[in-house]
Amino acid sequence: MIQLKNVSYTYENDEQNSPAVCDVTMDVRRGEFLAVLGHNGSGKSTLAKLFNAILIPTKGQVLVDGMDTADEDKVWEIRRKVGMVFQNPDNQIVATIVEDDVAFGPENLGVPPKEIRARVDEALKAVGMYAYRHQEPHKLSGGQKQRVAVAGIIAMRTDCIVFDESTAMIDPQGRREVMDTILRLNRELGITVVLITHFMEEAVQADRVIVMDSGRIAAAGKPETVFADEAFLERTGLELPPAAKLASMLRKSGVDLPKNILTPESCAQALLAAAQKAGVV
Ligand code: ADP
Ligand code: MG
Repeated sequence: MIQLKNVSYTYENDEQNSPAVCDVTMDVRRGEFLAVLGHNGSGKSTLAKLFNAILIPTKGQVLVDGMDTADEDKVWEIRRKVGMVFQNPDNQIVATIVEDDVAFGPENLGVPPKEIRARVDEALKAVGMYAYRHQEPHKLSGGQKQRVAVAGIIAMRTDCIVFDESTAMIDPQGRREVMDTILRLNRELGITVVLITHFMEEAVQADRVIVMDSGRIAAAGKPETVFADEAFLERTGLELPPAAKLASMLRKSGVDLPKNILTPESCAQALLAAAQKAGVV
C-alpha cells in the first residue's frame, strides 16, 4: 500500500544538515498492523509524515498505491487514502459538536450531504462514540476525543491510518479504549494501521514491528523476533514489553520458560505450566 525506496529527509533549518530519515527502504502492506518503535528523535514522526505527503522526500521516492507523493496533483488523493491521528487530542478537534467534527473531513472532500450523514453515523459507531454524537468535544475524556478524531478519518474512507503516539497523552483507561478501537478497525474493517508508540505492550499486538534508530531502520520483523534480542533493544533505547521482562528475569533465576513470551496471558500460561511440571499446583 505504501512503498518507500531509499528515502531520506533533511529538515531545511537543520544546522548539522543531517537527515532525520536516512536511506529508508520499506513498505506498509495492505491490511497489516505495523508498529513503529524508536527512542525520541529517531525519526518516527518524520517517517510518518512522509507516508501521506505532509513531507516530500529530499531523496528517494514514496509511493502510495502507486502514486508518487512528490506529484502535487495526487496529494489530496493520497491524503484521502492515508490519514493521520496525532498525539494531542485537543489539537485535532475543529467543531463544537462531535458529529459536526466527524463530518468535517468528508465535507471538505465534497461528499454529498446525505452520504455524509450515513458516513458520520457509521464512523461514530465504529469507534464506539455514537451515543456522544450531540456532545461538545471539550466535555469528553482524552480517549474519547482521540476516538472522535479517528472517526473523522474513517468518515473519509481512508484505507490506512497512521497513529503518531496517539495514546501518549491520555490516561491508561483511555489508552485501552483507543487500542481496542485500533485493533477492531484493523481486524474487522481491514483498515491498514501504522502505530507509532513507545508502549511496548501496544507494539506486541502488531503483525510486524520496525525499530528506528538515527533515522534508519535498525530492525524489522515479527514482534517475537524483534523483542527476542534484549541487547539490541537496550542499544536502541527500548525496553522489553513488561511481560517479556518478567519472563526474562524469571529465566535468569532458573525458571524454565519458553522464549516467545510477550503478553501477560502467555506469561501466566507458561508460569502455570512450569508450576504444574514442578508439581506445585
Ligand atoms: P521522533 O518522532 O522519533 O521523536 P522526529 O521525526 O520528530 O523523531 O525527529 C527526528 C529528527 O529530526 C530529530 O533530530 C529532530 O530534532 C529533527 N526534527 C524534527 N522536526 C524538525 C523540524 N520541524 N525542524 C528541524 N528538525 C526537526
Ligand atoms: Mg515523534
